[in-house]
Amino acid sequence: METNKANSIILRPKKDESLKRFHPWVFSGAIARIPQGIEEGDIVQVFSANGEFLGVGHYQIGSISVRILSFADETIDVDFYIRRISSAYKMRMELGLQHAGNNTFRLVHGEGDNLPGLIIDIYGKTAVVQAHSVGMDTDKDKIVNALQHVLGKERLENIFYKSEGTLPFKAGIETGNDYLLGGQNIDSVALENGLKFNIDWLRGQKTGFFVDQRENRRLLEKYAAGKNVLNMFCYTGGFSVYALRGDARLVHSVDSSSKAVSLTDENVKLNFGNEPRHTSFSEDAFKFLKESATDTYDIIILDPPAFAKHRGAIANALQGYKRLNLAALEKIKREGILFTFSCSQAISKEQFRLAVFSAAVISGRKVRILHQLTQPADHPINIYHPEGEYLKGLVLFVE
Ligand code: SAH
Repeated sequence: METNKANSIILRPKKDESLKRFHPWVFSGAIARIPQGIEEGDIVQVFSANGEFLGVGHYQIGSISVRILSFADETIDVDFYIRRISSAYKMRMELGLQHAGNNTFRLVHGEGDNLPGLIIDIYGKTAVVQAHSVGMDTDKDKIVNALQHVLGKERLENIFYKSEGTLPFKAGIETGNDYLLGGQNIDSVALENGLKFNIDWLRGQKTGFFVDQRENRRLLEKYAAGKNVLNMFCYTGGFSVYALRGDARLVHSVDSSSKAVSLTDENVKLNFGNEPRHTSFSEDAFKFLKESATDTYDIIILDPPAFAKHRGAIANALQGYKRLNLAALEKIKREGILFTFSCSQAISKEQFRLAVFSAAVISGRKVRILHQLTQPADHPINIYHPEGEYLKGLVLFVE
C-alpha cells in the first residue's frame, strides 16, 4: 500500500455543507488554511473548521482547489482506481455498450463516475485517457495500471494518453500526448451502432470522436428516409453517416475545419464507398446557412462547439445560439425537422430552450418540440454534481 502525503486542508466555518452533500469540489474561498509545501496534484485530506474529516482529493491552484475523489478516509492507490474503474466498466456492460456492432463508449466520465478530472473513452481495443486536473496527470501511472487490470489483455491493447491542452500550464508537468501501452499496428476503426468510424485520437478534437451523440444520431437515422439532410458542424460526420444509412436522399456536411471535412469524407467512404448522395463543404456555418437556398433541407442538424466555455460568456453564447437557430429556422423546409444542440456546460436546459424560443418567435414559424435530448447513459450525471449535465438538444417540427 502506498501512503498518502500528510497534507491536510482545513475549511472555513460553515464551508463544509456542500461536501456533506457530496458535491466533489472545494472552492478556493472555502479554505481557511493551506499547508506549506503542498504541490499541485498532491492528494489532500479535507477537514471542517471543527476538525471533522470530509474527504480526500486532488489539490490544484485555481478556483476549484480540491476535487474530491472519496468521501471516505481511503488511500488513493492503484486499488482505489481499480475499484472506481471496475464500477464504471460494470455499469457500461449493463448498458450493453460492448457487442459485435458497438465497441465505442465512454468508460469514465469524470465526476459522473466519481473520478473528477478523468475521462476515458474506449475505441475497440484502444483506451484514450484524458486528464483534466493536475492530480489525474500525477496519478496517470496508477490509472493506466488499474485500467489494464480491469480490462485485461484481451480487451485492451493500447492506451493513448492525451492531455495536451486540457491541463493548466505548470512547469515540470509533462502533458505531452503519448502511448502508455501498445501503439503499434493499431486498428483505429471503431464501431458505433454497426457503423464504422476511423478515430484520429492523435490529431482529432477531444479524444478523437464525440461519443456523446451516439443515441441522438440513432434518432436522426429514424427520421432520415427520403430526406435532404444538412449536418452542420459535422466534425467526423457522425450524423451524416447515420442519415445515409437511414436512406436519406441527400446529405450535406459542413464544418469550418478542412481536417474535419476530410475525416467526414473518410468515414462516409468507409461505410458506403463512393457515395453520390453525400457532399461536404469546408465553410463557416453561418455563412453557409445564409447563402443556402430556402426550402432545400428537410432536416438540419446544429451541433456547434460550446459557445460558452465559462459563466462570463453566457450572454454572448445565448445570442450565438439564437442567431444560429434563427438562420436554420429561416431556411428549413415546411414540415422540416431541426435537431439543435448545445454542449455548453455553463448554459442550462432552460436558457438554451429560451434562446431557441426567441429564434422561433423572430422566424414566425410554427414550432413544436418532438424530443428533448441529453447526454447518453455512459456520460452519467452524478446527482450531487448537477454541473455534469452539459449536453442538451431539442428536436423541432417546423411548419
Ligand atoms: N456533430 C459532431 C461534433 C461537432 S464538434 C459530431 O457528432 O461528431 C463542433 C465542430 O464545429 C468542430 O468540428 C469545429 O471544427 C466546427 N466549427 C466550429 N466553428 C464553426 C463554424 N463557425 N462553422 C462551421 N463549423 C465550425
